[in-house]
Amino acid sequence: MIRLVFLVEGETDFQILRFLVQRIVQEDVECIRRQRRFGGLGDVFASVVGCVWQAYQWRASGAVIDADADRSTPHASHVGKPPGDCRYCAIAELVPVVPEPRPKVCIGVPVEAIEAWLLEWGDLIGIKRPRDVERLPRRRGKELLWGSATPRREDVTVVCEKLFPLVAPEHIERLAESQESFRTFRASLQSLS
Ligand SMILES: [Zn+2]
Repeated sequence: MIRLVFLVEGETDFQILRFLVQRIVQEDVECIRRQRRFGGLGDVFASVVGCVWQAYQWRASGAVIDADADRSTPHASHVGKPPGDCRYCAIAELVPVVPEPRPKVCIGVPVEAIEAWLLEWGDLIGIKRPRDVERLPRRRGKELLWGSATPRREDVTVVCEKLFPLVAPEHIERLAESQESFRTFRASLQSLS
């Protein structure tokens, strides 16, 4: 059993992230999802400090923090000092130093949005994988995956329930090979104790 505190942009992200985390750590996950105050990216940024402290107080192994890259600079595309708009680095800079034992902070910033990660496995449910899935406008990605640019919660659940049982270890591997944003996220989860 592994304990994690999740700080995510919304319900869809939470559903997807919890699944991915479970598959990566291959253990049962006991999690707290932090309550959204405003929703969206602003809430994520405003809540990083509280999330990491909560993980510490709850003696969690880690905090999982997620934000879509949207049109910001992808973390994988820069070396050294980040440009002003890399969301991965922006979140990393906000992480407070808490006493030992320090929860590990696992940051996921899919390019451009979390749909890009799942579309990698589109073929499993009859969706043709777009050629350059990380350059797909987020609206288009949502339409392809959920059938709507503004999906209802049920639309998301239907797709997730169909797709997730079909995802095998080799699919996780394939996604890590093709999208560096996922590779980075997976690596941070694999280092959880
Ligand atoms: Zn960066």
